[in-house]
Amino acid sequence: MYVRTPQLIPDHPAFATSDVRWVRHWNEHLFSFAISRPASFRFRSGEFVMIGLPGEARPLMRAYSIASPAYADELEFLSIKVPDGPLTGRLQTIHAGDQVYLGRKPTGTLVCDALLPGSRLFLFSTGTGLAPFLSLARDPDIYDRFAQIILVHCVRRVSDLAYRDELTAQLAGDPLVGDQALLQFHYIPTCTREPFHTSGRIGALIEDARLFGPPIGGTRALDPATDRVMLCGSTGMIRDLGAMLESIGFDEGSNANPGRFVIERAFVD
Ligand SMILES: Cc1cc2nc3c(=O)[nH]c(=O)nc-3n(C[C@H](O)[C@H](O)[C@H](O)COP(=O)(O)OP(=O)(O)OC[C@H]3O[C@@H](n4cnc5c(N)ncnc54)[C@H](O)[C@@H]3O)c2cc1C
Repeated sequence: MYVRTPQLIPDHPAFATSDVRWVRHWNEHLFSFAISRPASFRFRSGEFVMIGLPGEARPLMRAYSIASPAYADELEFLSIKVPDGPLTGRLQTIHAGDQVYLGRKPTGTLVCDALLPGSRLFLFSTGTGLAPFLSLARDPDIYDRFAQIILVHCVRRVSDLAYRDELTAQLAGDPLVGDQALLQFHYIPTCTREPFHTSGRIGALIEDARLFGPPIGGTRALDPATDRVMLCGSTGMIRDLGAMLESIGFDEGSNANPGRFVIERAFVD
């Protein structure tokens, strides 16, 4: 029987070395994996960190949103598989027991601290932009801060809807947020290039008020007085929705100056 040898990597002074715990492939474009969390590693739900593998002269590191919540004992990630991508061309072959480098300083703006208090929290994502919102939606803290959490995930194809079963079940099996999520969490997947029960881009769902149907309560439009928004996805999505939000009275927040919406690109074009 063939037994695969775990791919161990040399220690590096700038990065922690962490063991891969599990890997889950969604389709030919996407996979998730989890690594052990070093005892000293602290982060806020929604932040990103550098992840990587040994490179020729120095480690090859890329930014990754942490998909697990701040209390979890493992760090979970949702990754693209870029054909011939310098990192993901190799990262997509990892197995449990292998090792990866982990940056020491998580950071980011998709955190509750960068938003003013509000009632409804809309999490708008495209593609792997879902990752930080998986972290936030599985953090009990968010259910104390907001009455409703509405996660919209826009993808091209139905098979790109990673975590669809868990999210459709309103995180029912989650030990810490399950009960609150059943009452407060709503998941709206939408596909742009394949037939699906909800189709079209996020802007279209806002415009024709499809986002605000039952069971989501409140006004049938975005309201800067009570709604808060986080955006994570392609540059085009962030540009378009960011401009739309500003045109109706939302101001962009940051860690230093909380506002009514926050943004983060899911990748650099
Ligand atoms: C703040 C931030 C957070 C990020 N979080 C994640 C994350 O959680 N998951 C993740 O998979 N990637 C994430 N990325 C992108 C990630 O850093 C890498 O670009 C990705 O891992 C591909 O690495 P690569 O070396 O294989 O290819 P790269 O040379 O980095 O990318 C090659 C090209 O592939 C495309 N591309 C890269 N990443 C993506 C993506 N996620 N979705 C669609 N197209 C992409 C772009 O056109 C890019 O120019 C994030 C980037 C930033 C800036």
